[in-house]
Amino acid sequence: MKNKSETLYIVIPCYNEEEVLEETTRQLREKIEKLLEEKLISSDSRVMYVNDGSKDKTWELIEKISKREKYFTGISLSRNRGHQNALLAGLMTAKKYADIIISMDADLQDDIGAVDEMLKKYYEGNDIVYGVRSARKKDTFFKKTTAEGFYKIMNAMGVEIVFNHADYRLTSKRVLNNLENYKEVNLFLRGIFPLIGYKSAKVYYERNERFAGESKYPLKKMLSFAWDGITSFSIKPITLIFNLGITILVISTFVLIYSIIVKLLGQTVPGWTFIICSIWVVAGLEMFSLGVIGEYIGKIYTETKGRPRYIISRNLVEEKKLEKISE
Ligand code: UDP
Ligand code: MG
Repeated sequence: MKNKSETLYIVIPCYNEEEVLEETTRQLREKIEKLLEEKLISSDSRVMYVNDGSKDKTWELIEKISKREKYFTGISLSRNRGHQNALLAGLMTAKKYADIIISMDADLQDDIGAVDEMLKKYYEGNDIVYGVRSARKKDTFFKKTTAEGFYKIMNAMGVEIVFNHADYRLTSKRVLNNLENYKEVNLFLRGIFPLIGYKSAKVYYERNERFAGESKYPLKKMLSFAWDGITSFSIKPITLIFNLGITILVISTFVLIYSIIVKLLGQTVPGWTFIICSIWVVAGLEMFSLGVIGEYIGKIYTETKGRPRYIISRNLVEEKKLEKISE
Protein backbone atom coordinates (compact mmCIF):
# COMPACT_ATOMS: atom_id res chain seq x y z
CA MET A 1 0.00 0.00 0.00
CA LYS A 2 1.43 3.35 -1.02
CA ASN A 3 1.14 6.59 0.89
CA LYS A 4 -2.25 8.16 0.38
CA SER A 5 -2.73 11.73 -0.80
CA GLU A 6 -0.04 11.96 -3.42
CA THR A 7 -0.17 14.67 -6.07
CA LEU A 8 -2.38 13.93 -9.08
CA TYR A 9 -2.18 15.66 -12.45
CA ILE A 10 -4.92 15.10 -15.02
CA VAL A 11 -3.49 15.78 -18.50
CA ILE A 12 -5.91 16.77 -21.26
CA PRO A 13 -4.85 17.50 -24.87
CA CYS A 14 -7.13 20.10 -26.47
CA TYR A 15 -7.45 20.97 -30.12
CA ASN A 16 -10.21 23.46 -30.96
CA GLU A 17 -12.18 22.56 -27.87
CA GLU A 18 -13.64 25.99 -26.94
CA GLU A 19 -17.14 24.52 -26.91
CA VAL A 20 -16.42 21.89 -24.28
CA LEU A 21 -13.81 23.43 -21.97
CA GLU A 22 -16.13 25.23 -19.53
CA GLU A 23 -18.31 22.17 -18.98
CA THR A 24 -15.24 19.91 -18.69
CA THR A 25 -13.80 22.31 -16.11
CA ARG A 26 -17.02 22.28 -14.11
CA GLN A 27 -17.14 18.49 -13.97
CA LEU A 28 -13.45 18.08 -13.18
CA ARG A 29 -13.55 20.76 -10.48
CA GLU A 30 -16.24 18.75 -8.70
CA LYS A 31 -14.19 15.60 -9.12
CA ILE A 32 -10.99 17.14 -7.73
CA GLU A 33 -12.82 18.68 -4.78
CA LYS A 34 -14.39 15.34 -3.96
CA LEU A 35 -11.05 13.53 -4.16
CA LEU A 36 -9.52 16.18 -1.90
CA GLU A 37 -12.30 15.77 0.63
CA GLU A 38 -11.69 12.03 0.68
CA LYS A 39 -7.97 12.75 1.14
CA LEU A 40 -7.12 10.61 -1.88
CA ILE A 41 -4.94 13.30 -3.45
CA SER A 42 -2.86 16.24 -2.21
CA SER A 43 -3.90 19.87 -2.58
CA ASP A 44 -1.08 20.39 -5.12
CA SER A 45 -3.08 18.31 -7.59
CA ARG A 46 -4.05 19.96 -10.86
CA VAL A 47 -5.85 19.52 -14.15
CA MET A 48 -3.41 20.40 -16.94
CA TYR A 49 -4.84 21.41 -20.32
CA VAL A 50 -2.47 21.08 -23.27
CA ASN A 51 -3.36 23.45 -26.10
CA ASP A 52 -2.33 21.68 -29.30
CA GLY A 53 -2.06 24.75 -31.54
CA SER A 54 -5.82 25.36 -31.60
CA LYS A 55 -7.19 27.80 -34.17
CA ASP A 56 -10.13 28.92 -32.03
CA LYS A 57 -10.23 30.53 -28.56
CA THR A 58 -9.10 27.39 -26.70
CA TRP A 59 -5.87 28.90 -25.33
CA GLU A 60 -7.52 32.16 -24.24
CA LEU A 61 -10.07 30.04 -22.38
CA ILE A 62 -7.39 27.91 -20.74
CA GLU A 63 -5.61 31.07 -19.54
CA LYS A 64 -8.87 32.46 -18.21
CA ILE A 65 -9.75 29.22 -16.43
CA SER A 66 -6.31 28.86 -14.85
CA LYS A 67 -6.54 32.41 -13.48
CA ARG A 68 -9.99 31.81 -12.07
CA GLU A 69 -9.66 28.24 -10.80
CA LYS A 70 -7.31 27.00 -8.13
CA TYR A 71 -6.87 23.49 -9.46
CA PHE A 72 -6.46 24.25 -13.16
CA THR A 73 -3.41 25.03 -15.22
CA GLY A 74 -2.19 24.68 -18.80
CA ILE A 75 0.60 24.59 -21.35
CA SER A 76 0.51 25.55 -25.01
CA LEU A 77 2.36 23.98 -27.93
CA SER A 78 3.85 26.28 -30.56
CA ARG A 79 1.63 24.70 -33.24
CA ASN A 80 -0.63 21.73 -33.90
CA ARG A 81 1.37 18.52 -33.45
CA GLY A 82 -1.44 15.97 -33.20
CA HIS A 83 -3.08 14.22 -30.29
CA GLN A 84 -0.25 11.79 -29.43
CA ASN A 85 2.45 14.47 -29.38
CA ALA A 86 0.27 16.86 -27.39
CA LEU A 87 -0.39 14.10 -24.89
CA LEU A 88 3.32 13.29 -24.62
CA ALA A 89 4.12 16.97 -24.05
CA GLY A 90 1.55 17.07 -21.27
CA LEU A 91 2.74 13.87 -19.62
CA MET A 92 6.39 14.92 -19.68
CA THR A 93 5.56 18.32 -18.19
CA ALA A 94 3.16 16.97 -15.57
CA LYS A 95 5.59 14.36 -14.27
CA LYS A 96 7.83 17.13 -12.99
CA TYR A 97 5.16 18.13 -10.48
CA ALA A 98 3.09 15.00 -9.91
CA ASP A 99 3.32 11.49 -8.45
CA ILE A 100 0.29 10.20 -10.33
CA ILE A 101 -0.75 11.23 -13.84
CA ILE A 102 -4.06 10.48 -15.54
CA SER A 103 -4.63 11.26 -19.23
CA MET A 104 -8.06 11.76 -20.78
CA ASP A 105 -9.79 13.59 -23.65
CA ALA A 106 -11.22 17.08 -23.40
CA ASP A 107 -14.74 15.95 -24.36
CA LEU A 108 -15.04 13.72 -21.24
CA GLN A 109 -16.30 10.87 -23.41
CA ASP A 110 -14.42 8.62 -21.03
CA ASP A 111 -16.43 8.41 -17.82
CA ILE A 112 -14.58 10.36 -15.11
CA GLY A 113 -16.31 8.16 -12.54
CA ALA A 114 -13.53 5.63 -13.28
CA VAL A 115 -10.91 7.96 -11.73
CA ASP A 116 -11.73 6.81 -8.18
CA GLU A 117 -11.28 3.17 -9.14
CA MET A 118 -8.01 4.02 -10.93
CA LEU A 119 -6.64 5.74 -7.82
CA LYS A 120 -7.69 2.79 -5.69
CA LYS A 121 -5.78 0.40 -7.95
CA TYR A 122 -2.78 2.74 -7.85
CA TYR A 123 -2.73 2.83 -4.06
CA GLU A 124 -2.97 -0.97 -4.11
CA GLY A 125 0.43 -0.98 -5.81
CA ASN A 126 -0.23 -0.77 -9.56
CA ASP A 127 1.98 1.53 -11.63
CA ILE A 128 -0.28 1.59 -14.69
CA VAL A 129 -4.07 1.43 -14.67
CA TYR A 130 -5.65 1.05 -18.13
CA GLY A 131 -9.13 2.43 -18.75
CA VAL A 132 -10.94 -0.18 -20.83
CA ARG A 133 -14.29 0.32 -22.56
CA SER A 134 -16.62 -2.35 -21.25
CA ALA A 135 -19.03 -2.31 -24.18
CA ARG A 136 -19.45 -0.20 -27.26
CA LYS A 137 -23.21 0.21 -27.01
CA LYS A 138 -23.13 3.86 -28.02
CA ASP A 139 -20.86 3.36 -31.02
CA THR A 140 -22.22 2.99 -34.52
CA PHE A 141 -21.91 -0.49 -36.02
CA PHE A 142 -19.22 0.81 -38.36
CA LYS A 143 -17.09 2.38 -35.59
CA LYS A 144 -17.42 -0.71 -33.39
CA THR A 145 -16.37 -3.23 -36.07
CA THR A 146 -13.51 -1.11 -37.42
CA ALA A 147 -12.20 -0.30 -33.94
CA GLU A 148 -12.38 -3.84 -32.61
CA GLY A 149 -11.03 -5.21 -35.90
CA PHE A 150 -8.05 -2.90 -35.43
CA TYR A 151 -7.18 -4.36 -32.01
CA LYS A 152 -7.42 -7.87 -33.47
CA ILE A 153 -5.15 -7.06 -36.44
CA MET A 154 -2.63 -5.47 -34.07
CA ASN A 155 -2.56 -8.60 -31.94
CA ALA A 156 -2.18 -10.80 -35.03
CA MET A 157 0.82 -8.64 -35.96
CA GLY A 158 2.36 -9.48 -32.61
CA VAL A 159 1.84 -6.03 -31.07
CA GLU A 160 0.85 -6.22 -27.44
CA ILE A 161 -1.90 -3.68 -26.85
CA VAL A 162 -4.74 -3.73 -24.33
CA PHE A 163 -8.04 -4.60 -26.05
CA ASN A 164 -10.46 -1.63 -26.18
CA HIS A 165 -8.08 0.67 -24.29
CA ALA A 166 -7.33 4.06 -25.81
CA ASP A 167 -5.46 6.82 -24.00
CA TYR A 168 -7.47 6.98 -20.79
CA ARG A 169 -4.99 5.72 -18.24
CA LEU A 170 -3.27 6.34 -14.94
CA THR A 171 0.50 6.09 -14.71
CA SER A 172 2.95 6.61 -11.91
CA LYS A 173 5.80 9.08 -12.16
CA ARG A 174 8.38 6.30 -12.52
CA VAL A 175 6.56 4.85 -15.55
CA LEU A 176 6.76 8.26 -17.25
CA ASN A 177 10.43 8.56 -16.32
CA ASN A 178 10.92 5.37 -18.31
CA LEU A 179 8.71 6.57 -21.16
CA GLU A 180 11.24 9.37 -21.65
CA ASN A 181 13.75 6.74 -22.85
CA TYR A 182 11.52 5.74 -25.76
CA LYS A 183 12.77 8.23 -28.30
CA GLU A 184 10.65 7.20 -31.28
CA VAL A 185 9.15 9.95 -33.38
CA ASN A 186 6.19 7.97 -34.74
CA LEU A 187 4.28 7.93 -31.50
CA PHE A 188 1.73 5.26 -30.68
CA LEU A 189 1.57 5.63 -26.92
CA ARG A 190 -0.85 2.82 -26.13
CA GLY A 191 1.65 0.38 -27.66
CA ILE A 192 4.56 1.64 -25.57
CA PHE A 193 3.05 1.39 -22.08
CA PRO A 194 2.71 -2.42 -22.12
CA LEU A 195 6.40 -2.53 -23.20
CA ILE A 196 7.43 -0.51 -20.15
CA GLY A 197 5.98 -3.16 -17.87
CA TYR A 198 5.50 -2.89 -14.07
CA LYS A 199 2.42 -4.09 -12.27
CA SER A 200 -0.74 -2.99 -14.06
CA ALA A 201 -4.50 -3.25 -13.71
CA LYS A 202 -7.62 -2.48 -15.74
CA VAL A 203 -10.68 -0.42 -14.94
CA TYR A 204 -13.83 -0.84 -17.05
CA TYR A 205 -16.11 2.03 -18.03
CA GLU A 206 -18.74 2.94 -20.60
CA ARG A 207 -17.83 5.63 -23.11
CA ASN A 208 -20.30 8.43 -23.69
CA GLU A 209 -21.05 10.49 -26.75
CA ARG A 210 -19.34 13.84 -27.22
CA PHE A 211 -21.49 16.45 -25.43
CA ALA A 212 -20.39 19.33 -27.67
CA GLY A 213 -18.07 20.08 -30.57
CA GLU A 214 -17.12 17.46 -33.14
CA SER A 215 -14.63 14.60 -33.36
CA LYS A 216 -11.08 15.57 -34.31
CA TYR A 217 -10.53 12.03 -35.53
CA PRO A 218 -12.32 11.67 -38.87
CA LEU A 219 -12.04 8.33 -40.69
CA LYS A 220 -8.96 9.43 -42.64
CA LYS A 221 -7.03 10.34 -39.48
CA MET A 222 -8.20 7.15 -37.78
CA LEU A 223 -6.90 4.98 -40.63
CA SER A 224 -3.55 6.73 -40.69
CA PHE A 225 -3.31 6.34 -36.90
CA ALA A 226 -4.03 2.60 -37.19
CA TRP A 227 -1.43 2.26 -39.95
CA ASP A 228 1.06 4.15 -37.78
CA GLY A 229 0.37 1.72 -34.95
CA ILE A 230 1.15 -1.31 -37.08
CA THR A 231 4.21 0.06 -38.86
CA SER A 232 5.69 1.50 -35.66
CA PHE A 233 5.52 -1.77 -33.79
CA SER A 234 5.62 -4.73 -36.12
CA ILE A 235 7.97 -6.11 -38.76
CA LYS A 236 5.63 -9.01 -39.45
CA PRO A 237 4.67 -7.63 -42.91
CA ILE A 238 8.34 -8.10 -43.93
CA THR A 239 8.38 -11.68 -42.69
CA LEU A 240 5.21 -12.26 -44.71
CA ILE A 241 7.00 -11.15 -47.90
CA PHE A 242 9.92 -13.45 -47.08
CA ASN A 243 7.61 -16.43 -46.55
CA LEU A 244 5.71 -15.62 -49.72
CA GLY A 245 9.01 -15.70 -51.63
CA ILE A 246 9.86 -19.15 -50.32
CA THR A 247 6.33 -20.40 -51.09
CA ILE A 248 6.55 -19.19 -54.69
CA LEU A 249 9.97 -20.85 -55.08
CA VAL A 250 8.57 -24.16 -53.84
CA ILE A 251 5.57 -23.87 -56.15
CA SER A 252 7.89 -23.07 -59.05
CA THR A 253 9.67 -26.45 -58.73
CA PHE A 254 6.29 -28.12 -59.21
CA VAL A 255 5.58 -25.86 -62.19
CA LEU A 256 9.00 -26.83 -63.56
CA ILE A 257 8.25 -30.55 -63.30
CA TYR A 258 4.75 -30.07 -64.72
CA SER A 259 5.87 -28.04 -67.72
CA ILE A 260 8.66 -30.52 -68.55
CA ILE A 261 6.18 -33.39 -68.48
CA VAL A 262 3.78 -31.46 -70.73
CA LYS A 263 6.68 -30.75 -73.10
CA LEU A 264 7.77 -34.42 -73.18
CA LEU A 265 4.21 -35.42 -73.98
CA GLY A 266 4.50 -33.01 -76.91
CA GLN A 267 1.42 -30.98 -76.01
CA THR A 268 3.02 -27.51 -76.11
CA VAL A 269 3.86 -24.82 -78.57
CA PRO A 270 7.59 -24.03 -78.91
CA GLY A 271 8.92 -21.65 -76.21
CA TRP A 272 6.03 -22.19 -73.74
CA THR A 273 8.03 -24.32 -71.28
CA PHE A 274 10.87 -21.83 -71.17
CA ILE A 275 8.61 -18.82 -70.59
CA ILE A 276 6.48 -20.47 -67.90
CA CYS A 277 9.54 -21.75 -65.99
CA SER A 278 11.28 -18.36 -66.20
CA ILE A 279 8.24 -16.47 -64.88
CA TRP A 280 7.86 -18.64 -61.80
CA VAL A 281 11.50 -18.97 -60.90
CA VAL A 282 12.28 -15.27 -61.43
CA ALA A 283 9.19 -14.14 -59.51
CA GLY A 284 10.05 -16.48 -56.63
CA LEU A 285 13.66 -15.29 -56.52
CA GLU A 286 12.62 -11.65 -56.61
CA MET A 287 10.14 -12.05 -53.79
CA PHE A 288 12.66 -14.04 -51.76
CA SER A 289 15.39 -11.43 -52.27
CA LEU A 290 13.01 -8.64 -51.29
CA GLY A 291 12.24 -10.58 -48.14
CA VAL A 292 15.95 -10.98 -47.30
CA ILE A 293 16.60 -7.27 -47.81
CA GLY A 294 13.46 -6.57 -45.79
CA GLU A 295 14.72 -8.60 -42.86
CA TYR A 296 17.81 -6.38 -42.72
CA ILE A 297 15.70 -3.23 -42.97
CA GLY A 298 13.57 -4.63 -40.16
CA LYS A 299 16.70 -4.96 -38.02
CA ILE A 300 17.75 -1.39 -38.82
CA TYR A 301 14.24 -0.24 -37.91
CA THR A 302 14.33 -1.86 -34.50
CA GLU A 303 17.88 -0.62 -33.87
CA THR A 304 17.07 2.98 -34.77
CA LYS A 305 14.20 3.02 -32.28
CA GLY A 306 16.82 2.55 -29.56
CA ARG A 307 14.24 1.28 -27.10
CA PRO A 308 15.51 0.28 -23.66
CA ARG A 309 16.34 -3.43 -23.58
CA TYR A 310 15.24 -3.83 -19.99
CA ILE A 311 13.87 -1.87 -17.07
CA ILE A 312 14.72 -2.80 -13.49
CA SER A 313 11.67 -2.47 -11.29
CA ARG A 314 13.36 -3.11 -7.91
CA ASN A 315 16.92 -3.20 -6.67
CA LEU A 316 17.42 -4.47 -3.14
CA VAL A 317 20.94 -3.03 -2.86
CA GLU A 318 19.54 0.48 -3.27
CA GLU A 319 16.56 -0.24 -1.06
CA LYS A 320 18.81 -1.40 1.79
CA LYS A 321 20.90 1.76 1.48
CA LEU A 322 17.78 3.91 1.71
CA GLU A 323 16.59 1.94 4.74
CA LYS A 324 19.90 2.60 6.50
CA ILE A 325 19.66 6.34 5.84
CA SER A 326 16.15 6.54 7.21
CA GLU A 327 17.03 4.54 10.30
N1 UDP B 1 -6.66 16.39 -30.13
C1 UDP B 1 -5.44 17.07 -30.07
N2 UDP B 1 -4.79 17.35 -31.26
C2 UDP B 1 -5.30 16.97 -32.47
C3 UDP B 1 -6.53 16.25 -32.50
C4 UDP B 1 -7.17 15.97 -31.31
O1 UDP B 1 -4.94 17.42 -29.00
O2 UDP B 1 -4.67 17.27 -33.49
C5 UDP B 1 -7.34 16.08 -28.84
C6 UDP B 1 -8.79 16.52 -28.76
O3 UDP B 1 -8.88 17.86 -28.35
C7 UDP B 1 -9.37 15.57 -27.73
C8 UDP B 1 -8.57 14.29 -27.98
O4 UDP B 1 -7.41 14.68 -28.71
O5 UDP B 1 -9.14 15.99 -26.41
C9 UDP B 1 -9.35 13.23 -28.71
O6 UDP B 1 -9.97 13.77 -29.83
P1 UDP B 1 -11.48 13.48 -30.23
O7 UDP B 1 -12.33 13.49 -28.99
O8 UDP B 1 -11.89 14.42 -31.30
O9 UDP B 1 -11.38 12.00 -30.81
P2 UDP B 1 -12.51 10.85 -30.77
O10 UDP B 1 -12.97 10.75 -29.35
O11 UDP B 1 -13.59 11.31 -31.68
O12 UDP B 1 -11.80 9.62 -31.26
MG1 MG C 1 -13.63 12.24 -28.19
